[in-house]
Amino acid sequence: MVEKTQILLIYTGGTIGMVLDTESNALKPFDFDNLYNSIPVLANMNCCINIYSFDQLIDSSNVNPDFWIKLACVIEENYEKYNGFVVLHGTDTMAYSASALSFMLENLNKPIVFTGSQLPLGMVRTDGRENFINAIEIASAQTDNAPIVPEVVIYFENRLFRGNRTNKFNAENFDAFLSGNYPPLAEVGVHIRYNEAYIQKPNFKKLKVHKKLDSNVAILKLFPGITEKVVRSMIEVEGLRALILETYGAGNAPTDAWFIKALKYAIEQKDLIIFNVTQCKGGSVEIGKYETSIEIGKIGVVGGYDITTESAIAKLMYLLGSGYTKNEIERFLQIPLRGEMSII
Ligand code: ASP
Repeated sequence: MVEKTQILLIYTGGTIGMVLDTESNALKPFDFDNLYNSIPVLANMNCCINIYSFDQLIDSSNVNPDFWIKLACVIEENYEKYNGFVVLHGTDTMAYSASALSFMLENLNKPIVFTGSQLPLGMVRTDGRENFINAIEIASAQTDNAPIVPEVVIYFENRLFRGNRTNKFNAENFDAFLSGNYPPLAEVGVHIRYNEAYIQKPNFKKLKVHKKLDSNVAILKLFPGITEKVVRSMIEVEGLRALILETYGAGNAPTDAWFIKALKYAIEQKDLIIFNVTQCKGGSVEIGKYETSIEIGKIGVVGGYDITTESAIAKLMYLLGSGYTKNEIERFLQIPLRGEMSII
């Protein structure tokens, strides 16, 4: 008989874990201790599920770096005991959390599958049940005694994505996540079809958990009409170490003299790292492709290729927290560390 895989289900909060209390008509947390009674089909799966529930269940809008550190610690403490992990998490910041965990867990050789739902698990039309069962199935999937997906991933509405490539793009549809620059790692229909060519291979090295994150970062999203006052006030934020510049299209920005001067001052006088990430959900920053990105390239703005803003924030917090110099960080920003971007 094939041995059952061991899965740790980590419940952090979010819509998926809710049921409707028939007496009060309000949403209350699902009783995960009675999981097998509530979803009897789980008993037929080839895995054993243990549950770790956060003491304080949160709406994911309240996620912060301390929460990521706690989550990473739970995974580290249980890493040897389990074949895979499923993280039930609110959808709102799931892409940020999956990105953060991907950087924090270096040499990850086991699946960490984030999932959630748009409707609570306890509602008749919920998308949570399918998301949950498929996430468990994917976290347990093995070939030749090795996990098929040894990565931090998001499973949602029939598709499995690399976590640090996603954004939540829809607050209404069950199909809520997008991975504009990287193909799904698996598609689920009658069969689960893994796109093996796109899945990272295990490196069998020892897991290293990075628990220092520096949140002295900010995002400056460009828009036509942005004023010098706004740009200058961002640059002057006390303690700020890195600024993500959300640019237009292929990394383009205004060419006004005041704008270039302000960024140059930020880089040279304030020692800020400025990271150019596109506002587009697909495609890449290509500094120098248009005249409107030549100048910012020349003054030392770093191009982020096709990285998502969510992943850029997580990568910066991780790199700044790791004690690297500004030059080292700027170099790492242009190298994929966890498959978070493609170099063109
Ligand atoms: N606000 C909820 C959360 O992110 C939404 C959800 O779970 O889908 O926690």
